[in-house]
Amino acid sequence: MSKKIAEFMAKVIEKNPAEKEFHQAVLEVAESVMPLIEATPKYKNSMILERMVEPERVLMFRVPWLDDKGEIQINRGFRIEMNSAIGPYKGGLRFHPSVNLGVLKFLAFEQVFKNSLTTLPMGGGKGGSDFDPKGKSDNEVMKFCQSFMLELCKYIGPNTDVPAGDIGVGGREIGYMFGQYKRVRNEFTGVLTGKGLNWGGSLIRSEATGYGCVYFVQEMLKTRGESLKGKTCAVSGSGNVAQYTVEKLIELGAKVVTLSDSDGFIYDAGGIDKKELACVLNLKNVKRARIKDCAKEFTCKYFEKKRPWSVKCDIAFPSATQNEISGDDAKMLVKNGCIAIGEGANMPTTPEGIKVFQNAKILYAPGKAANAGGVATSGLEMSQNSMRLSWTREEVDRRLHDIMIAIHEQCVKYGKEGKYINYVKGANLAGFIKVADAMIDQGLV
Ligand code: NDP
Repeated sequence: MSKKIAEFMAKVIEKNPAEKEFHQAVLEVAESVMPLIEATPKYKNSMILERMVEPERVLMFRVPWLDDKGEIQINRGFRIEMNSAIGPYKGGLRFHPSVNLGVLKFLAFEQVFKNSLTTLPMGGGKGGSDFDPKGKSDNEVMKFCQSFMLELCKYIGPNTDVPAGDIGVGGREIGYMFGQYKRVRNEFTGVLTGKGLNWGGSLIRSEATGYGCVYFVQEMLKTRGESLKGKTCAVSGSGNVAQYTVEKLIELGAKVVTLSDSDGFIYDAGGIDKKELACVLNLKNVKRARIKDCAKEFTCKYFEKKRPWSVKCDIAFPSATQNEISGDDAKMLVKNGCIAIGEGANMPTTPEGIKVFQNAKILYAPGKAANAGGVATSGLEMSQNSMRLSWTREEVDRRLHDIMIAIHEQCVKYGKEGKYINYVKGANLAGFIKVADAMIDQGLV
């Protein structure tokens, strides 16, 4: 690490103690952009990175609600409004017991660069709560969502801040929050994305993150004259991102052998087919069951408390959560012949793991590029809401595909290191330049 980066990081850590995921995300960006900042007086003299790591606004609030037994529950709600240089704050809401300020600040920081890469006018934000929807009744989830939105609705709006879903926040939660926003503010507006199709949602939004990640990997493979056809893929997670990653991979002729949740993973040597995927969707989205229950429904192995990275595969799609691929997991993947990684999740690979992939010169797509299709399609949902019209499935999918190709091109442009494409550097630089220039244009903001 250069002296400049070490000094910069020491200040970030001192100012934001105990936020280790935030430090990790900032360091990754600093390593990519510091040489450019040092060589460019307008960035250096305007303290641009020091300004970018400071959120424009952090909201933290109490969320009281009554459970089904009539007992009072109290959770903590957050919204990090990180950067609005290129558009309204945009980014998901995460409901998970592991949520804290540091996790949401890392996600909000990543979101700024990701949104910039999409080519759409969206700033970066992220929010959520330590509320755990698992094991809660629909009524309890609704009560929580209504209380959460009662406070959040004071700060968001279609031209200010437009949240979406993330871990633990799907169509059900977005619906309850949208209903509450509408009731309190008395306006039907595009304040959330991921809405239902009959009340302002966009076709392909549910599919977008998974589909987009696969489109991105397709572009990476093309640089080496490869395609997805016949490739064996390991996918982690079994939520929104994982489900549609698998759907698109099957459609393009790849073989998906794993899916997981926080309890373990399933391994299907013959490949998960469309019928089995439908079973996963039903178990996960309707019955809200565990992935091990899928192993009972169709013949495959289940590995308790294990992650899928020991399985032999050509391509890995980590699509569950942050830091799910350790340095050792990465070594195992490379040893087993893995040639590409498409990160559906945000920051799923540890810094040690990233080094392993890059040293092995395999194709490695960081989340902020590979999973940007979700927020890009949220941007398309915002456009449709503003125009009060709906595009067809084909139209949205075509735009999504074009955006993923454009993101890949930007990564190649800024990430080329001889014959190797450093997608981390490419994504960080391309995302950074647009936001930094906008901040400078707008004066000391
Ligand atoms: P879901 O809540 O739909 O699914 C999350 C999946 O990951 C579940 O299978 C869950 O298992 C698993 N998981 C969550 N936490 C952990 C953990 N600590 N250890 C192991 N497994 C875990 O979320 P999404 O699919 O929407 O999000 C997955 C990832 O993709 C996240 O990193 C998110 O930030 C990222 N992402 C999502 C986008 C979107 O549009 N939804 C857009 C861009 C990125 P369990 O049920 O056991 O908790």
